[in-house]
Amino acid sequence: MLFVIDFDGTLARHDTVDELLGKFADPAWADVEQDWQDGRITAVECMQRQIRMVKADQVTLENFFRAIEVDESFLPFHRHVSKFARVAIVSDGLDHAIHVASRHAGLPDMPIYANRLHFVHGGIDISHPHLNAQCKAGNGVCKCAVANELSGARGGPVILVGDGKSDACLAHSADVVFAKDSLIRYCEEQNIAHIPFDTFEDVLATVMAWSTHLPQQAVSIA
Ligand SMILES: [Mg+2]
Ligand SMILES: [Zn+2]
Repeated sequence: MLFVIDFDGTLARHDTVDELLGKFADPAWADVEQDWQDGRITAVECMQRQIRMVKADQVTLENFFRAIEVDESFLPFHRHVSKFARVAIVSDGLDHAIHVASRHAGLPDMPIYANRLHFVHGGIDISHPHLNAQCKAGNGVCKCAVANELSGARGGPVILVGDGKSDACLAHSADVVFAKDSLIRYCEEQNIAHIPFDTFEDVLATVMAWSTHLPQQAVSIA
């Protein structure tokens, strides 16, 4: 069993990238966001343009990353599920932000798949080590490709925990989908069975109930 955990808005209480842009980028970042929402540019193009609009030095940004608020109920969740499942953070956000925030929050070591953040003079840049040209959602990190790679020969159910547009692609193929915020609306529109949640306390409560039902059954219940 593999848990694919989204970061921004899921493990982190807020969207780190939006907060970063709100604090440190030229306000025109919101127009670029609108172009993406309206489908005029891909998620990758959107992020590249926005990230390059950030103007701040490294010390300021490191402080910002350390202050990222993490859902503290993730710890008991992880303690329980890591006994029988693998857990990976798969995010279309920034790897360095996730590493710093996870370390600062005392989270256990987990594989992290995200876009790479680069510090450049006076700002930051981004590259995409997990880009998949075939990704239907045009994301920087194709969560479907990462989940495929991780579940690989071992197979077993893939469980997605997410909240937004970057989770839409994997929501179609995951065996179980835990959804919050806009991912709930997406699943409703697309007729994807899903379990709504707010915090990892809710996810844990559902997973605990699986000791009597298999996840496959949870799919039909949802
Ligand atoms: Mg998210
Ligand atoms: Zn994809």
